[in-house]
Amino acid sequence: MTDSLGAYMRTLFLHPPSYDGFDGGAGARYQARREIRSFWYPTWLAQPAALVPGSRLVDAPPDGLTVNEVLPLAHRYELAILHTSTPSFPYDVRVAEAMKTENPDLRIGFVGAHVAVDPEGALRASETIDFVAREEFDFTIQEVAQGRPLRAVLGLSYRDNGIVRHAPARPILENMDTLPFVVDVYKRDLTLENYFNGYLLHPYVSLDTGRGCRSKCTFCLWPQTVGGHRYRTRSVEHVVAEIALATRYFPQVKEYFFNDDTFTDDLPRAEAIAHQLGKLGVTWSCNAKANVPYDTLKLLKDNGLRLLVVGYESGNQQVLNNIKKGVRLDLARRFTKHAKNLGIKIHGTFIVGLPGDRRETIEETIRFACEIDPDTIQVSIAAPYPGTALYREAVEQGWLSGGQLVDGQGVQVSALSYSHLSRTEIFESVESFYRRFYFRPLKVFALAGEMLRGREVMKRRLREGVEFLRFLSRRKEA
Ligand code: SF4
Repeated sequence: MTDSLGAYMRTLFLHPPSYDGFDGGAGARYQARREIRSFWYPTWLAQPAALVPGSRLVDAPPDGLTVNEVLPLAHRYELAILHTSTPSFPYDVRVAEAMKTENPDLRIGFVGAHVAVDPEGALRASETIDFVAREEFDFTIQEVAQGRPLRAVLGLSYRDNGIVRHAPARPILENMDTLPFVVDVYKRDLTLENYFNGYLLHPYVSLDTGRGCRSKCTFCLWPQTVGGHRYRTRSVEHVVAEIALATRYFPQVKEYFFNDDTFTDDLPRAEAIAHQLGKLGVTWSCNAKANVPYDTLKLLKDNGLRLLVVGYESGNQQVLNNIKKGVRLDLARRFTKHAKNLGIKIHGTFIVGLPGDRRETIEETIRFACEIDPDTIQVSIAAPYPGTALYREAVEQGWLSGGQLVDGQGVQVSALSYSHLSRTEIFESVESFYRRFYFRPLKVFALAGEMLRGREVMKRRLREGVEFLRFLSRRKEA
């Protein structure tokens, strides 16, 4: 099953078509259609694609590809690797089945946290799926693409004459520098301009400089399923060489984003990378916890840091303790003040419907958000993903409402309900959160001021404003 590339099968890496505008790619933590058009880079898929010569990565949602447009690809490849997620799994299976009908010889594998948590269930869901790769799947997929027998590939669960079998686990990756650069795959296969994100400059590029997070937030998907709780990192030189290469490949890029769970988990390393990025003169942003000291913030800012994405989650300390956030509200306030004083922008993320949330605590969170006043916010509904401590807790406590994580349009709905807080109340609180945060005179003036600084920004913000209002009105109808 190999071609002129010698040792490798002709391999397609596919983020399948899904709900319109669905940001469920191999880079999104919450797979859902966002309030404004938004797509993360499919970094988890690009990484194994970089290990398989001659492969191709197709990211259908940002490219606006339909199932019918993707199907002809089934004939051109011997192996297809589909990235899936809990909300999109049934849809992704249908895409896989259609591809197999087109080309019955196509070998199909699924990857992603959903199948890593329940490989048996995934394989039983459809005979179309030949195997799933558990844990970190980069080298697992490389070995499959090299044509190794499935039973000999660590980390694989596969179908063998109708019986589901599980190969032993693949050891966690320690030397992260063995992962090749993803920007080569981005350059070869992706259209950068199709990747939007409301709070990042456009066009942007995101990639990972490490995997894993030291924190143990009970709701958080990746560290509990594939990344683990040690922050395993690429060397400073490796990261900086990739960014330097990216600046040559993509002169149009205005910002680089480090999508590591918590880039600031290793402060000396973050500072060392910042020093080098400062020399390159690039603008960059990253995920951070609300506990970075002032001196580090200043050094990062002096070396090109533009924005931090900060998971505040709640404005109630007990709720934060319930989810093991490991952050104190007073320290989060101080951190935010420091960052703002230094001119660092903040995109704050909040969650409603967490364990312990009541109408009053959601109200506290809205007031907290307005008080600390990040530049932009994202409000998510607590999502009990299988494989997380939140999911196990929800099962034990009877909080699962029987609903899905997203509705028929891919918009988040509440899969949790409590005796004191219904799923409808949780769902409706998202809209009031957004309205109360954004429709304040202070915020409206800030956005207007930003728009007046340039035509491009104005065009973009107006488009996003329309999308945002449509999003709110669609939620009202739901
Ligand atoms: S700090 Fe952020 S990335 Fe780390 S476990 Fe908590 S929510 Fe997840």
